[in-house]
Amino acid sequence: MVRPALRSRSLRRVQRRTPGGRTVTRYERRRPGPARCARCGRPLAGVPRARPSVLRGMSRTSKRPERPYGGVLCPSCLAEALRESIIRGL
Ligand SMILES: [Zn+2]
Repeated sequence: MVRPALRSRSLRRVQRRTPGGRTVTRYERRRPGPARCARCGRPLAGVPRARPSVLRGMSRTSKRPERPYGGVLCPSCLAEALRESIIRGL
């Protein structure tokens, strides 16, 4: 049996193939929930669900859509906000 700290369900079990061909169980922290729109709360597409240490290795353009308020507002909320000019300075 694995050591007590690894029996916690806050860790997920991942099957990984080693270079030697064995399959081992690795214990990883669970991934965070999806990024959500600041206005309507819907999950944002194009924003990866990953832990900060993984996000740090990713390029800026792969972490959020390349448009104003990308990664903050969903496209429909952005369009609406621009029309209603709720957002200042644009
Ligand atoms: Zn929205």
